[in-house]
Parts: sequence; C-alpha cells; structure tokens
Amino acid sequence: MIKKDQVVSMTYTLTDGKGTVLDQSGDEPLEYLHGHGNIIPGLEKALDGMQVGDKKKVDVPAAQGYGAYDPELRFEVERSAFGKQAPEPGMTVQLQGGGRQMIARVLQVGDEKVLLDANHPMAGQDLSFDVEITGTRAATAEEISHGHVHGPHGHHHH
Ligand code: ZN
Repeated sequence: MIKKDQVVSMTYTLTDGKGTVLDQSGDEPLEYLHGHGNIIPGLEKALDGMQVGDKKKVDVPAAQGYGAYDPELRFEVERSAFGKQAPEPGMTVQLQGGGRQMIARVLQVGDEKVLLDANHPMAGQDLSFDVEITGTRAATAEEISHGHVHGPHGHHHH
C-alpha cells in the first residue's frame, strides 16, 4: 500500500482540462519516493493508500499542480545579456539572480530586448492524470535520507 517512505512505480497519462495529452510514462514506469514532495502535491495526496494494480483518474487543479500563472514572471532582459548566443523563441535559458537559479523560456526576441517567461510550462493548467500503480517497495535508508529514489540505473543526482 502506498504510504510515506514507499517507492512507488506507476504508469500515467497526463492530460489538460481539454483532453490533450501533455505527458505520459515511457517504456518503463515512473518511480518516485512517496511522501517527500517529489511529485506535485495534489497527485501525491490522491495516491496515498492505493494498492498495486489499482487504477485511478486524478484531477489536480492548477493551484495544487504547478501553481497559478504569474504574470510577474514574464519579463524583458537586454539582448546583450545573451552575449554571442543568439536567443530564439522556445529556447530555455538559465538565469542567475539573488543567489538562486531560474529556468525561463524565450517568448519573443526583439532587436534590443528579449521577452522571457519563468513560469512552469504547465503553470495555470488544470491537470488530469490516469494512473495505474505497478509496484511498491520499501525505500532503503539511503533513499529516505536523500529524499529520492535510487533506481535500477544506479545512483544519480540532479
Ligand atoms: Zn541520492
């Protein structure tokens, strides 16, 4: 049964409010450590107590998913800040500021200014997950102390 400190394997299909598929698990199920905030809060809460073989449709409103769209995270920077690298719409860039890193997408490129958007691409979207639980196991002490899964492909950190 899914509870804190269990490693959960599941397959999923993620659709938006209109039924468009946004994401789905690949050949191998997704594995995550339950109860450590590794997946969005609305989904993690709904999976609590499920058993292997259980299927569920989980609707996650934007507020419990990737949050509301924040217009203040849309801003312009000087094109010269990109140096020799030519910014293009759709590109993802990493920004440093105030001691933290931020990922932003390039929306528009002008002669002098570049418009960026640091919202999560799924911010403001209601999400719907079709999940099937394919496995659970107790996490190792090391996984619990790290707060994430060490999968079959070895120990890798983000
Ligand atoms: Zn680790």
